[in-house]
Amino acid sequence: MDIELSAEDLAFQSEVQNFLAANAHTPDQDYMKWRMDWFAKAREQGGWDVPKWSTEFGGPGWSPTQHYIWEKETAKGGTPLDAPFGPGMLAPVLMGYGNKEQQDRFLPDIRARKVHWCQGYSEPGAGSDLASLKTKAELTEDGKHYIVNGTKIWTTIAHMADWIFCLVRTDDSDIKQRGITFLLMPMKQPGIEVKPIITLGGAHSVNMVHFTDVKVPVEDRVGEEGEGWTYAKGLLQHERTGIAGISRSLVALEGLKHKASSVPRGNGTLMDDPKFRAKVAELEVDLLAVEFTELRSLASAAAGTAPGPESSILKLKGTEIQQRVAKLTVEAGGVYASAWGAVPAGPGFARGGMSSYLASRAYTIYGGASEVQKDVVAKNVLGIKRSK
Ligand SMILES: Cc1cc2nc3c(=O)[nH]c(=O)nc-3n(C[C@H](O)[C@H](O)[C@H](O)COP(=O)(O)OP(=O)(O)OC[C@H]3O[C@@H](n4cnc5c(N)ncnc54)[C@H](O)[C@@H]3O)c2cc1C
Repeated sequence: MDIELSAEDLAFQSEVQNFLAANAHTPDQDYMKWRMDWFAKAREQGGWDVPKWSTEFGGPGWSPTQHYIWEKETAKGGTPLDAPFGPGMLAPVLMGYGNKEQQDRFLPDIRARKVHWCQGYSEPGAGSDLASLKTKAELTEDGKHYIVNGTKIWTTIAHMADWIFCLVRTDDSDIKQRGITFLLMPMKQPGIEVKPIITLGGAHSVNMVHFTDVKVPVEDRVGEEGEGWTYAKGLLQHERTGIAGISRSLVALEGLKHKASSVPRGNGTLMDDPKFRAKVAELEVDLLAVEFTELRSLASAAAGTAPGPESSILKLKGTEIQQRVAKLTVEAGGVYASAWGAVPAGPGFARGGMSSYLASRAYTIYGGASEVQKDVVAKNVLGIKRSK
């Protein structure tokens, strides 16, 4: 595995650094205007607004190493907020399995960040065991529409989204992985009701979505009826690699050290405390190990292999590390971290620490819970057979 960057890669790295520095958000700029300008400028760079899209659809066509550089540099330099559901999740499905009409109809608005999407996979009785989903779609007699009934849960930003991409059951006569269909629906229409779920940290980002006799034209089905499981599975592997957030953790760890160095402890700071230092060192060692795993998967991607079950290792360890950084940040904030949401007290960083920590509990659940990732690793990476 060669992790030395070539002269070309180094040139690309400084091009990215220059772009991010020249277009960084400044406090005097209106955030939403800056965000849209940023995407427009990134697009002019040759598809940097949609890094993962192929050149055929206007993406930059980067090598795996260039993607890695982009991840690292944007983790440091920052990019505008961008929900992954449209550009990162639905778009690859449409490019791979959608027809030309669907690609022309949906991709431009996804790219322009004009139309926002949410992901309707999980249901009250189908999370880890997603293939058990029961939301039903029945074809009308004239074959022109599906009528959808059922409930989705944990649907992130459903209350703000314009459209939802959904897995629904069109046939339950075969094994549960068959008979699942991939449908697209506008959110603002009769029969769709969104109910908020407030999470531990007090935030409203997830929802319950009820469907009652929702009429979906057959043109809004992606791919073949009953083949949705195949399309959804490919998406999950990309989702898992993204959630691992290793570059972001490297930056967050440096931030943690900086924060701990500002907290007085004895004659020095918290960063001089041997116990705290040991925890930070342990975290850093583990993070380094995961970074090397990521580099290994980068090397196999460079050799032309699509992300496989090893993306589960990255998801598993990457999300645990994000939780440990959040936990140590709370520890650094001490008692002040528990006063989150109240009148700010103590070091400035302490205020947001607890809410980030509580939000981080979900990292090992969504995109496939840790126990399930362990199953995937045991079976498909280590080749361990299930005992009878
Ligand atoms: C903040 C947040 C945002 C989310 N956003 C979305 C979204 O936008 N769209 C969407 O569709 N879904 C979303 N989800 C849902 C998420 O994908 C599911 O929560 C996840 O798949 C787990 O399913 P579950 O909650 O039903 O738990 P369950 O599957 O019921 O799991 C409960 C527990 O049992 C364990 N378990 C389950 N199966 C096994 C097994 N085979 N072996 C060992 N242990 C097992 C799990 O690890 C877990 O600890 C979100 C979830 C959260 C928390």
